[in-house]
Amino acid sequence: MGKVDLHVHTTFSDGTLSPYEVVEKGYFKKLAALGITDHDTMQGIADAEVAGRKFGVEIIPGFEFSTDYEGNELHILGYYCSQDNVNLAEILNTVKVSRFERMVSMVEKIKKLGLNIELSDILKTIKGDILGRPHLAAVICQKGYCKSSREAFQKFIGKDCPAYVERFKVNTFEAIDMIVKAGGIPVLAHPGIYDVDELIPSLIKGGLSGIEVFHPDHDINAIFRYKEIAFKYDLLITGGSDFHDEEIGSAPLLGNITVDYTCVEKMRSIKKSL
Ligand code: AMP
Ligand code: FE
Ligand code: FE
Ligand code: ZN
Repeated sequence: MGKVDLHVHTTFSDGTLSPYEVVEKGYFKKLAALGITDHDTMQGIADAEVAGRKFGVEIIPGFEFSTDYEGNELHILGYYCSQDNVNLAEILNTVKVSRFERMVSMVEKIKKLGLNIELSDILKTIKGDILGRPHLAAVICQKGYCKSSREAFQKFIGKDCPAYVERFKVNTFEAIDMIVKAGGIPVLAHPGIYDVDELIPSLIKGGLSGIEVFHPDHDINAIFRYKEIAFKYDLLITGGSDFHDEEIGSAPLLGNITVDYTCVEKMRSIKKSL
């Protein structure tokens, strides 16, 4: 039975490899399928599908929705959504614009802190149109102000840091509903990094179908806990590497965290029953 990595970022958000390069890597890792889950966009899916046909790697279309639940950022993975759904497309466009405006404000703050960084420096480096803090972190490092992205987050752009600016996020329940209405499967991403276990039953009532049990930020205890929750509520168990970049410290490489292909078959049967 083949292995699948269901959580992968590309240059269409804050990953450093293009969809083509990511799929090529998946092929070399002998993966049967890859879930392309860029932050707040499905625009990289088409390129991934072209590469998928070339390399014989099945592409599971997805995205990672940054949502807000009472001031906490919760990530919801949405698999198999229709890219033609007008409501979802509109809200993702609003998020994209908000990310751009927020980058403008963050650069202003960074400049006031004395760093010689312009918006154009960031725009030069990006390939897609989803601007994220990692893009700004990369420029901060390129210009020699920090040695690592982690340091840039700690000193300047992490929450509560001097150049941090909030941005628009969709409410978690609304996001789940939008994914369902777009024919997709909503999955709670990396629950182990939040403190929202008691919220899971109401997320399920709201339409949540799955939970990401296998993720680089989950230790053995977290995996055990979320497996139990998945069994208790009959949730789909997913997993993936959350691959962004080959150079970020201890982050795992693409395909180093996988689930069996049966997960894809289960997703398809959930989709049919929707
Ligand atoms: P944004 O969506 O623009 O607010 O940026 C959030 C993204 O930044 C996350 O998805 C991670 O990829 C990355 N990130 C968050 N915290 C850190 C950190 N401390 N060090 C490096 N990258 C981070
Ligand atoms: Fe990211
Ligand atoms: Fe995430
Ligand atoms: Zn991710």
